[in-house]
Amino acid sequence: MSTKYVYLFSEGNGKMRELLGGKGANLAEMTNLGIPVPQGFTITTEACTRYYEDGEKIAPEIEEEINQSIAKMEEIAGKKFGDINDPLLVSVRSGARASMPGMMDTILNLGMNDEVVVGFAKKTGNERFAYDSYRRFIQMYSDVVMELPKSNFELIIDEVKEKKGVKLDTELDAEDLKELVVRFKNYYKEQLNSEFPSTPHDQLMGAVKAVFRSWNNPRAIYYRRMNDIPSSWGTAVNVQAMVFGNMGDDSGTGVAFTRDPATGENKLFGEFLINAQGEDVVAGVRTPQTIDELKGIMPEIYDQFAKIADNLEKHYRDMQDMEFTIEQRKLYMLQTRNGKRTAAAALKVACDLVDEGMISEKEAVLMVDPKQLDALLHPQFDAKALKAASPIGSALPASPGAACGKVVFTAEDAVEWHNKGEKIVLVRRETSPEDIEGMHVAQGILTVRGGMTSHAAVVARGMGTCCVSGCGEVVMNEEEKYFELGGVTIKEGDYLSLDGSTGKIYAGAIPTVSAEISGYFGRLMGWADEIRDLKVRTNADTPADAKQAAEFGAEGIGLCRTEHMFFDTDRITAMREMIVSKTEEQRRAALAKLLPMQRGDFEALYEALGGNPVTIRFLDPPLHEFLPTAEEDIIALAKEMNITVEDLKNVIASLHEFNPMMGHRGCRLAVTYPEIAEMQTTAVIEAAINVKKAHPDWDIVPEIMIPLVGELKELQYVKSVVVKTADKVIADNNSDLKYKVGTMIEIPRAALTADEIAKDAEFFSFGTNDLTQMTFGFSRDDAGKFLDAYYDRKIYESDPFAKLDQDGVGKLVEMAAKLGRQTRPDIKLGICGEHGGDPSTIEFCHRVGLNYVSCSPFRVPIARLAAAQAALKFPR
Ligand code: ADP
Ligand code: MG
Ligand code: MG
Repeated sequence: MSTKYVYLFSEGNGKMRELLGGKGANLAEMTNLGIPVPQGFTITTEACTRYYEDGEKIAPEIEEEINQSIAKMEEIAGKKFGDINDPLLVSVRSGARASMPGMMDTILNLGMNDEVVVGFAKKTGNERFAYDSYRRFIQMYSDVVMELPKSNFELIIDEVKEKKGVKLDTELDAEDLKELVVRFKNYYKEQLNSEFPSTPHDQLMGAVKAVFRSWNNPRAIYYRRMNDIPSSWGTAVNVQAMVFGNMGDDSGTGVAFTRDPATGENKLFGEFLINAQGEDVVAGVRTPQTIDELKGIMPEIYDQFAKIADNLEKHYRDMQDMEFTIEQRKLYMLQTRNGKRTAAAALKVACDLVDEGMISEKEAVLMVDPKQLDALLHPQFDAKALKAASPIGSALPASPGAACGKVVFTAEDAVEWHNKGEKIVLVRRETSPEDIEGMHVAQGILTVRGGMTSHAAVVARGMGTCCVSGCGEVVMNEEEKYFELGGVTIKEGDYLSLDGSTGKIYAGAIPTVSAEISGYFGRLMGWADEIRDLKVRTNADTPADAKQAAEFGAEGIGLCRTEHMFFDTDRITAMREMIVSKTEEQRRAALAKLLPMQRGDFEALYEALGGNPVTIRFLDPPLHEFLPTAEEDIIALAKEMNITVEDLKNVIASLHEFNPMMGHRGCRLAVTYPEIAEMQTTAVIEAAINVKKAHPDWDIVPEIMIPLVGELKELQYVKSVVVKTADKVIADNNSDLKYKVGTMIEIPRAALTADEIAKDAEFFSFGTNDLTQMTFGFSRDDAGKFLDAYYDRKIYESDPFAKLDQDGVGKLVEMAAKLGRQTRPDIKLGICGEHGGDPSTIEFCHRVGLNYVSCSPFRVPIARLAAAQAALKFPR
């Protein structure tokens, strides 16, 4: 049977998202529910895939199906495409499986040409409206299909307005718009050396191809990478009969949510514009009215809409985000989807839906995107400081959170300053999809134009970035990079603070405080904790980090990098002394200085975790991270060590490594200098004994982790030093302390020989940063230089250091876990690389049966939720 590439809305349904895309599936579902939806059809995502397979061409059989579907539409509408008396006009809309707001391009009023517009004007009795629709079509088609910049058309409009001496688009009459159409078409011809396509069929095929192509435009690619959407999915194309919100004051268009997407409050929330086409609301060009005001203007339409909204929410059992158009007092629904929302709203909506009996606790856990929680875990403004500060202005609280940073005026500057390590606030007249990368790196976004559902607001909420929008009082000077607000001039580089929850804008920097888990957040995390199989530990090197992680629910430390305890200026000297020692005697002297520092830190770590397991990794400093390079540091160190500067410089030179990442580090240090392992063991064990004395009821079992092992005998040697030292300390203290010795699996050879390694390792922790580096054969410090080219050429879809490469590195993990268990069935398995906080990696860890994941403190709640979702999707 041949594949069907085109479905009428009446032939599809909501479950066909993969084939029809989200928008198409929901349009079909609404059609089936009897909700008023302009009729149309969907060209499938498979047609998009086929388009690329065929070398960016639409196969004849697909074109034929499209033609047949147009014929069916004509039959239903009783109008014909290109009819000069009563034409059928359509919109062409993209729609991927996962919603990508503002990412893909839409074309309205397709089917217009010089003859059609005359008939359309007669039929609607409104010449101005007809020509306005026509010139919009030429603009959109030129922009989306032919990539002629929109702004050049705006310049032509400005010229015509100036000639006429008017300011507003609405002051242009039918004759002016006719002139615009002529000028637009001339401009098109000038630029492209061809006539603007006049047959509706050519226009349609051009538009369909453009939607397929837009799947691979840079902002779509960037959005996909940010949201883990595979590029193989493709987008569907929806072709739909036009309805017109711009037919006069009894028409309009709007967007609405069934609940407040910023707070989650259960109340219809949205906005609309009278006498406008959909684009105008989303683009944020005119400032719209709230949905409540519709009640006063067209009460019967409001009631009908509210009822549909309620039904849709009950039907989908989730908050809906809807687009609608009113054409001469008749309501049409143009879209519905599960609404994007802030993290706070996501939690409230999930809990409320459980309380309303609409969903189960498990469904609530599945409903919240773990990555989104990040926004709630980051600092809020210090309440006192906030009270004392007086705002210079305020606007719409479009996306909550506290932002404080230096002002920049373009998305490119935002990226550039961010790369230099600056925290920035992006200030724009309005944002467009091209700005997405700059928005992503900004602490906060301030826009002059736009409403709660404008591009900036929707995108910022999706990213969890603070956004204040529609501040019309701002007097902008984008060119010279400053703006004025409330009598204050803010220049590029000045500090600005934004409160995304109140919409208030402050000059200067307002201090922030950390967040806590309570209320809806705590409730949802409680459900998640009951469901998950994976334990969640944290990577913490300092007592402060450990405390923060424990507050976020960490159930232990999976990785304490002991060398990180020596980054402080007052400690690094002792560490350097140890590294550059030439004799064992010198080294022992330096180690003696380090011992009390380590012991104290370990005590504080055990205390912070309240008796939960703590894995301490022995020293693993790639030497280049610690050697002094500044002259003054070298002089100071020489003095401390009582050697000459020249002597020290010679030692440093002799320690130079060509490839420190693969150099004298990890357990190789302990193999050459066993006294280092002795000191660290002493510190770990003594600290545990001391803390146990203070808390006899805590069951402290320190876990000593030997890094960078690749060979069983290597582990055995270091372990023998550890055991000898530990047993002596325990005996000397008359203690009965138990401890474990295990290893990192971070060198491919260790994974390959994991059955051997497990003979002596009591636990494995997958160090997936190094394992990724060693498996791919590229340095994690240098990969940034070339990975972008790999994304551009679609060789990699995501950063293998952020999201575990399950096909390659993951295979090693899975194999090592299996081999390890063969030798030692009760071996404890965890992951402690950066990947431990990435939801897709967590799902992988759950599936291969690890016992725990360990991640940085701020990702602990994310990991708890992701682990619960993994357990629901893949019951063990
Ligand atoms: P996006 O995915 O960016 O929201 P849409 O395909 O939803 O893009 O289209 C953008 C806007 O165009 C919508 O807000 C809608 O109001 C308007 N629109 C799309 N199709 C039609 C139509 N058939 N009639 C009237 N307006 C339409
Ligand atoms: Mg839409
Ligand atoms: Mg490592």
